[in-house]
Amino acid sequence: MRIILLGLPGAGKGTQAKILTKELGTPHISTGDILRAAVLKGTPLGLKAEKYIISGELVPDDLIIGLVKERIKERDCEGGFLLDGFPRTVPQAEALEKISAIDRVIKLRVKDKKAIERLSGRGTCKRCGALYHTTNLPPKREGICDRCGGELIVREDDREEAILKRLEVYRKETQPLVDYYTKKGLLVTIDGENPVEEVTKDLLLLLR
Ligand code: AMP
Repeated sequence: MRIILLGLPGAGKGTQAKILTKELGTPHISTGDILRAAVLKGTPLGLKAEKYIISGELVPDDLIIGLVKERIKERDCEGGFLLDGFPRTVPQAEALEKISAIDRVIKLRVKDKKAIERLSGRGTCKRCGALYHTTNLPPKREGICDRCGGELIVREDDREEAILKRLEVYRKETQPLVDYYTKKGLLVTIDGENPVEEVTKDLLLLLR
């Protein structure tokens, strides 16, 4: 299946995508993860993208579309993929349509308050990308990833000012995709405020 996960930053797209990849064997393509890795490595893409990521703005469409196009041409995507964080604008969705068919678009619905609460307590493993939360999902040892022992950091864009910017950008640029995919008959909405395991159950019911 070729799936898109939509929803506010903090809706749980990354968390659910990581679980679904294990359950279904479908590769998880997170444009945010790809960009952050490029920033860490200091590649030309990373150097161009960094200022947008830090401020909570979107990276220009032309940078991101080429990247996704290359990624979904790879062999592991032949049987499907799970897109997390792409598309985020109507031009991205239109470009995606030219590259690949999409089977389902799933929106994880959360209110702003929930998204802010999740993002402001979030810790991310610098090494493997695993996600934690100070109250909802604390690591066993403070600041250390349970899975790989890597250091947990607070993403630059999980700071207050950038969080508010990301929510504003979502509303302006990404929200129109809800209409876009509803008109195509592809959109399904799931309550993303439920506990992680319940959301996973709902997703698997839809996808299996
Ligand atoms: P995420 O991890 O999906 O929240 O993405 C983190 C940041 O990466 C976003 O705030 C944007 O700056 C950038 N980014 C990720 N995906 C996209 C995309 N599809 N289009 C533009 N910018 C993106």
